[in-house]
Amino acid sequence: MKLSELKTGERGIIVKVTGHGGFRKRIVEMGFIKGKTVEVLLNAPLQDPVKYKVMGYEVSLRHQEADMIEVVSKAEAGKQKPQDSETTDSEVITERYLRSRALKERRHLNVALVGNPNCGKTSLFNYASGAHARVGNYSGVTVDATEAEAHFYGYDFSLTDLPGTYSLTCYSPEELYVRKHLAEQMPDVVINVIDASNLERNLYLTTQLVDMNIRMVCALNMYDEFERRGDTVDLKTLSTLFGMPMVPTSFKTGMGVKELFKAVIQVYENTQGASRHIHINYGHEIEDGIREIQKFLKADEHIRQRYSTRYLAIKLLENDPNITQYVGQHLADEHRAHDRKQLLAVRNHAAARVLEETASDSETAIMDAKYGFINGALREAGYQTGTKENIYRTTHMIDRVLSNKFVGFPIFFLILFVMFQTTFALGQYPMDWIDAGVGWLGEWIGSTMAEGPLRSMLVDGVIGGVGSVIVFLPQILILYFFISLMEDSGYMARAAFIMDRLMHKMGLHGKSFIPLVMGFGCNVPAVMATRTVESRRSRLITMLVLPFMSCSARLPIYIMITGIFFAGRYQSMVMISLYAVGILMSVIVSNILSRFVLRGEDTPFVMELPPYRWPTAKAIGRHTWEKGKEYLKKMGGIILVASIIVWALGYFGPMGTAPSLAESFIGRMGQAIEPLFAPQGFNWQLDVSLIAGVGAKEIVASTIGVLGGLDAITPLAAYAYLLFVLLYFPCIATIVAIKNETGTWRWAVIAAVYTTCVAWLVSALVYQVGQLVS
Ligand code: GDP
Ligand code: MG
Repeated sequence: MKLSELKTGERGIIVKVTGHGGFRKRIVEMGFIKGKTVEVLLNAPLQDPVKYKVMGYEVSLRHQEADMIEVVSKAEAGKQKPQDSETTDSEVITERYLRSRALKERRHLNVALVGNPNCGKTSLFNYASGAHARVGNYSGVTVDATEAEAHFYGYDFSLTDLPGTYSLTCYSPEELYVRKHLAEQMPDVVINVIDASNLERNLYLTTQLVDMNIRMVCALNMYDEFERRGDTVDLKTLSTLFGMPMVPTSFKTGMGVKELFKAVIQVYENTQGASRHIHINYGHEIEDGIREIQKFLKADEHIRQRYSTRYLAIKLLENDPNITQYVGQHLADEHRAHDRKQLLAVRNHAAARVLEETASDSETAIMDAKYGFINGALREAGYQTGTKENIYRTTHMIDRVLSNKFVGFPIFFLILFVMFQTTFALGQYPMDWIDAGVGWLGEWIGSTMAEGPLRSMLVDGVIGGVGSVIVFLPQILILYFFISLMEDSGYMARAAFIMDRLMHKMGLHGKSFIPLVMGFGCNVPAVMATRTVESRRSRLITMLVLPFMSCSARLPIYIMITGIFFAGRYQSMVMISLYAVGILMSVIVSNILSRFVLRGEDTPFVMELPPYRWPTAKAIGRHTWEKGKEYLKKMGGIILVASIIVWALGYFGPMGTAPSLAESFIGRMGQAIEPLFAPQGFNWQLDVSLIAGVGAKEIVASTIGVLGGLDAITPLAAYAYLLFVLLYFPCIATIVAIKNETGTWRWAVIAAVYTTCVAWLVSALVYQVGQLVS
């Protein structure tokens, strides 16, 4: 519990003090040291500060300060007494027992993983905790924080895998998220994961963490590649210069993980020699400014305990809007208006002086100073990049081909073609087996069970519906295998790179490309992945056109219908044309949106090209299987239920059991809406399937599996139908995801309605024009 929660007269043992270094130092200097007993002399409600007795002295603390001190109290220990204790009398719980409890709780640490995208945070997270979070070779996989437990050397660690960031300014949602987490959750120790094969760039974030004055340990990850390349650096010197232990690791093999956690414990227990708080020297102009701003901030207890004042001063000088607002809010009272004005005046004065003397704005000057610091530190540590084997050399060679202006595109489309061709050709075999199995099961049940609604439900509803979708599992697995391969090898980033210019023409950010490609798998995570797009406008457009990316749920319908109408040589072509139409529609719509609806400018950004890596079989296998599992879950859930409902609506009619499908409930419904789809040449069975597909698009296939209706249409109508399925209302889950990401129903409803209108228009157009031509 927190010290602030102890009542007058109660006693507790101090477990730990959280918060940034400056705060901790001050509190510890007052005598609040781990393992010491603290007694509350006076803690009246609404009374601030509170009086404590610690180490024989009387000390007063503010409530907020006492909030950041963790203690174990007698009452708390009494509640969770060990089983073998003979008495329940709380008086008997000795000080010694309390102390051992405090010690035990002290052995629980909150650890946050911070680092650039792709440096291996999630790999460490998974390795240390045995979890199966998603790793990938491009930025944007981790959009939320994930938590898991790990255990080393008798300590328990709550690990938080934070989103990857290059910096801690506040330009992207990730950066703000990480900052907020560090300030509010106050992890006991931060593990700063660094890609050692790209030291200079990765250390930039480290310098910002140093400013925040938090306890941390550096994991120099990808050390295998560092060594393979023949790079050298004196780690001891580097550790000393940065004031934190630096542990070489490779999360691929698990090398260094134990040492890393040992260092974390040492830093936490203050037994690590290298660990100290350093100041990066920003040059006297900026340092003067920092000092002056700090003078003001130090007067405010509230601000002072939450953040390092030096960090805040630096951020204020950088003109960080988020921090400026935070500080402004704390000085918002009337009687502090003067302070506020004076603080801003000092800030502006300092910034003006920096501009005068260094000829650059404070933000640039601070950034330059940080890189200067890094360069200096690296030189002193004898950092040298080797020439033995440069991973980037191979990468550059491959990139010269794959990201080439002329051959890049054909190769990209060739890869897509191979992907789909393999998916269908190879997937055909297991698909036939499952199909035969499903058929056999249906026949077996049909012949053994007595005639009646139950048999009909099992054979026509469950097996007919779920069976017609489950046969596509192998193909979906193969498709996901390819997508995982592209992601993990680094090719996806190249695809994004060559698409960048095109994306800009669409009014989108190059970064939008990855969510769009992810959309081929499933639109829902893709909508969430748009968080990496820094500009809100681009992000919104990306979300709105995402439903046109043909997700794997649509695949069963494609395979089913193309298999019947376009079997053989043209099947792949028809499929690719569908994907192409989806892409084309997204291009057209995003163009319209960015030109006429959501106008504005985007900030330029750097596109990352991580080195190519051989994806591990284990990772690929896991990613592929995770998707397959999702698919099976859907099968046993929504698709099963929908199949039974569709069957029931088809089995019964207004007069009880329906004599024919046409006279059943579903038949009536279909006939009622049939005129709506007359321009497309669909029949009522197909119309009903579309309605059923609102829940999930696989249900279109399972409904057709139950109702039939394909034999009565022409190939042209079949193609129009495929287009409609591709373009209309994505699915409820996607719409909800858009609502969650934009924060309002408005854009979600717009997405639902406009996609359906587009689908209707395009399919009608194709059918009508097609009829004229043929
Ligand atoms: P995150 O973005 O920081 O979470 O990084 P991930 O954990 O997703 O890792 C990115 C990629 O780097 C994955 O393909 C990992 O397999 C790979 N990776 C992680 N650690 C190492 C390492 O120590 N050595 C090598 N060679 N690859 C690694
Ligand atoms: Mg990650």
